[in-house]
Amino acid sequence: MHDHLPDGADRTVISAHYAEIALKGKNRHVFLLRLRNNMTSQLRGEPVIAVNHIESRLLLRLGDPAAALRAAAKLQRVPGIQNLSLAASVARTGDDAADLVRAGEIAAATTRREAGDTRTFKVDTRRSDRTFPVPSPRISAQLGAAIVAATALPVDLHTPEFTVHVLVMKREILIFAQKLPGCGGLPVGSSGRVTVLLSGGIDSPVAAWMMMRRGCRPEFVHFYPGRGIAEADSAKIERLVAVLAGYAPQPLVLHLVPSYPYETRAVGTIEDAYDMVLFRRYMFKTAVRFARRENCQAVIAGDSVGQVASQTLPNLAAITPDIRLPILRPLIGMDKLEITAMSRRIGAYDISIEPHRDCCSIRSPRPVLNARPAKLLELSEEIGLDDAVEEALQTSTKLRIGPDGRVDPGPAA
Ligand code: ATP
Ligand code: MG
Repeated sequence: MHDHLPDGADRTVISAHYAEIALKGKNRHVFLLRLRNNMTSQLRGEPVIAVNHIESRLLLRLGDPAAALRAAAKLQRVPGIQNLSLAASVARTGDDAADLVRAGEIAAATTRREAGDTRTFKVDTRRSDRTFPVPSPRISAQLGAAIVAATALPVDLHTPEFTVHVLVMKREILIFAQKLPGCGGLPVGSSGRVTVLLSGGIDSPVAAWMMMRRGCRPEFVHFYPGRGIAEADSAKIERLVAVLAGYAPQPLVLHLVPSYPYETRAVGTIEDAYDMVLFRRYMFKTAVRFARRENCQAVIAGDSVGQVASQTLPNLAAITPDIRLPILRPLIGMDKLEITAMSRRIGAYDISIEPHRDCCSIRSPRPVLNARPAKLLELSEEIGLDDAVEEALQTSTKLRIGPDGRVDPGPAA
């Protein structure tokens, strides 16, 4: 693919194309600034010389051609970028006609290498330097002719299978074609913060990722079976957070919370059928407290209707009748195959399927299917659920996790 761009061309420019941000109105620049910052954070340690915004793209120039492929792979993990291309650059010499001939050679070589078995193509030209004397359609026609001469590929201006992009700038002409897919969506941080209920399963990391792709910065709350942090078997959870942190501009917060404050009050009092739903109420109520404390504007869960007995529509309604903060469930209408495919795509799947002792797996597997909200409120009173939530907050442990695992506490971000 891109490991052998045409000889002689400079190969240090990456063109990053955003899609959805382009639809934003007068606050588009806020999103763009966020995207630029997130890109720069993701490329920490790479030789980035400049980032410029030109013609609905962000152009990155790197100091070392060998870094371009690696940098592009990193940018594929930055939400907000729709796709990326490695561009070949032809320096402008002052002799425009000669420069276009050279650009034609590069365009032809790019097509030969990257068009694969596509059957038609077109050239799409934009001049960000409006003083360039040849109009864009004529540049496209000239470079198109050079490509036809070299490859015999037919032109199709309306539905081409392969498009060669040409961008004429003050000092150079960029030529790029093949696209590496990005995450799409909006840059992390542009939509505010959310508190994610993270289990060790397949679903909740995907739910978190979907919210990240909508521009949300997640904080995680995980409940472990036990009484104190020494009993928490949290390595797997931390690794899942590390995968998600790979898509974020800074380390992410994980709160580890014991299930004990609930259990010590529920055991012997709460019948099996109601234990699971009441425990879920404990998780949600605790998550809401974290959300309020950390300025998060919603709680996210990985439920999908009917997937397990605790996720029937009546149960979803009964668990949180008194919670006013929005509870968002991005997977609610997805089926398990779709969720699993997404889990693989984001790189969480192999970790998610590792065995793990979860606090839900130790509950009775036969919850009521039709819990009544009034009954749950009654049971909450009976065991002092609010005190349990208070104790949960007191006994929780806060970690910060980056793509490589735990980072020093540092100042709370
Ligand atoms: P699976 O892939 O096994 O379905 P899951 O994460 O969806 O995993 P469920 O039992 O279906 O597990 O739980 C539904 C949702 O409740 C989860 O997606 C998650 O948001 C939340 N949840 C479950 N267990 C925990 C836990 N131990 N800590 C925090 N949140 C949890
Ligand atoms: Mg599930």
